[in-house]
Amino acid sequence: MTAQLIDGKAIAAALRARIRDAVRELKSRHGLSICLTVVLVGDDPASEIYVRNKVNDAHEVGIVSRDIKLPATAREDEVLSLVRELNADPSVHGVLVQFPVPAQIRQEAILDTLSPAKDVDGLTPLSAGRLMSGRPGLVACTPQGCIILIKSVRQKLDGLSAVVIGRSQLVGKPMAQLLLRENCTVTMAHSRTSDLAAVASTADILVAAVGKAEMVKGAWIKPGAIVIDVGLNRLELASGKSKSVGDVAYSEALGIAAAVTPVPGGVGPMTRACLLRNTVIAACAQQEHAPPTEL
Ligand code: NAP
Repeated sequence: MTAQLIDGKAIAAALRARIRDAVRELKSRHGLSICLTVVLVGDDPASEIYVRNKVNDAHEVGIVSRDIKLPATAREDEVLSLVRELNADPSVHGVLVQFPVPAQIRQEAILDTLSPAKDVDGLTPLSAGRLMSGRPGLVACTPQGCIILIKSVRQKLDGLSAVVIGRSQLVGKPMAQLLLRENCTVTMAHSRTSDLAAVASTADILVAAVGKAEMVKGAWIKPGAIVIDVGLNRLELASGKSKSVGDVAYSEALGIAAAVTPVPGGVGPMTRACLLRNTVIAACAQQEHAPPTEL
């Protein structure tokens, strides 16, 4: 068997095109100018690239985007007061504080302060609670993107067995909730799971969100499974160069799965597109407009 490659780049590009249309329509119909504000504390080079990408992505679909930079020495109360200001600013519809933040600032304090209405990362306790309670709300971008990728292969997921490896707030937990919402029978695995290979091999849908290069071997994969590789790792090569790989041994998975996401070009572009989607949904909710159905 040669697995279908799930082309996250193409699926994300199609989603961005729908978002661009929706943004244009909301502007012409309601005069709504949607605004995303990204806050970066410190000068971590990787975070700077992420923020630049997010701002550029937003711009490309017609969302007004601002980035606000605070020095690495910023105090927690300064960051929280900025977040409160943005919460109160009616021209700002989505707010994202780029994590990680410097050690003197508690991530939880930011998430406890951020207005859930503007929580386009879907990480506040209220957003997480809404997802768990089956209520509408802003859903974390990466798992939201993963569900779209899974559904690009198979529309109805009822009764399928899903295994999520990883239980982070950012990916694993919301991923499991979304699969449950799709009527899958969900198992969450983590670092203390015994015989992970045996657990993984029961999965019709296998999502790996661990951060360990090529940990999931071909032999762990059920023949015909849909495999979603969230992991993003740098693998050092014998040549002294390095390359990006996922948590799944991709070439092994290709020979046994029905469909698999590549790294790069799978989950990553969807995460970025879903941030834009959340920003449009947040803006519509704040302005009491129905979100465009095509989203
Ligand atoms: P995280 O917060 O570090 O969580 C990792 C999870 O993996 C934890 O739940 C941990 O279990 C589990 N784990 C660690 N070692 C394990 C092992 N040997 N066997 C089974 N489970 C193990 O990471 P994250 O934020 O969820 O991210 C996971 C990966 O996805 C990273 O590579 C990250 O870069 C990538 N990522 C990619 C995107 C994207 O858009 N492409 C977005 C977000 C994250 P315990 O809870 O027991 O410690």
